[in-house]
Amino acid sequence: MLPLRRNIAEMAGYVPGFQPADAERWIKLNTNENPYPPSPRVVEAIRNELGADGARLRQYPDAGSRAARAAAARLYGYDADWLILANGSDELLNNLIRAFAGEGDEVAYIHPSYSYYGTLIAIQGARPRTFGLTAQFKLADFPARYDGKLFFLTSPHAPLGFAFSLAEIEDLAQRCSGMLVVDEAYADFAADSAVTLVRRYPNLVVTRTFSKSYALAGMRLGLAVAHPEVVAALDKIRDHYHLDRLALVAAEAALEDQGYLRQRLAQVCATRERFSVRLRAAGYPVIASQANFVFVSAPDGNGQRLYQQLYDARILVRYFSDALLCHGVRISIGTDAEMDALLQVLGA
Ligand SMILES: *Cc1c(COP(=O)(O)O)cnc(C)c1O
Repeated sequence: MLPLRRNIAEMAGYVPGFQPADAERWIKLNTNENPYPPSPRVVEAIRNELGADGARLRQYPDAGSRAARAAAARLYGYDADWLILANGSDELLNNLIRAFAGEGDEVAYIHPSYSYYGTLIAIQGARPRTFGLTAQFKLADFPARYDGKLFFLTSPHAPLGFAFSLAEIEDLAQRCSGMLVVDEAYADFAADSAVTLVRRYPNLVVTRTFSKSYALAGMRLGLAVAHPEVVAALDKIRDHYHLDRLALVAAEAALEDQGYLRQRLAQVCATRERFSVRLRAAGYPVIASQANFVFVSAPDGNGQRLYQQLYDARILVRYFSDALLCHGVRISIGTDAEMDALLQVLGA
């Protein structure tokens, strides 16, 4: 037997959404990727960084991500020491647990939500606790005072798509004696963001990703806004060269092209609304979404059958076997043509 830590030996790893080898033969609506390309300025920045011969790749990247941090600081209206870039927001979630929770400490998240929190908690050997949702999408049984080290609040919620209000988030920040991490992976598609609350609550961290709204899932980029003390802690424990040179210039260019972002967000949100209306009209209950996906219930309550029906038409969506989610599927918002193809399969 290997001398593995017991929690590592006993845990199951995270299972990401299926990435088919022959992606071009599928309509791929299962991992909330953006159907449109990233900003042309991102592509240009990567080309410039590569140059004709890739000579710059000989040298290490800027360990402090200074240019990209400065761009994020300008965008969000914070000084640069309130911001940290990361190798996907997954890196931030991981390092927040490492920084704030020791073995046996309690870390909470919503069930159902992003199941990767549970994996990260298991790796750390921390103690998971979950809070459920009411039928109105409020937190169920959240105590007046919560003493766990961290609470991960996914807003907009994944995989259901609704968002918590800023008043609810503020209330939670006050009730948590530990850290409240608002995972805003989808906030660019939503009406509100908790970023502006960070200044007022030292225990509040907001994480963002470039994977969905900026169409850069393949670059692995995320960021967090938090009090400088939190950012300093995250800076201490991260890998020093966690972002490569191409990712750094991509992040800076993406953040600086807000015009392009806004145009693409408007397209995705318009498609989401149109798709939701048509699905509902065909008898499929759809939760109102503030993200780039919708959670759709199967009319007969059998999400797996709905998944299979779409799979057989070479349309990939996400089915979760969890008892609270198996009545439906999560469908990423693709192009209008892709969503029309899906509607056609469902006879909508
Ligand atoms: C996609 C997603 C992430 C991960 O984002 P990356 O930046 O690609 O690591 C984090 N949280 C939620 C809720 C997500 O859906």
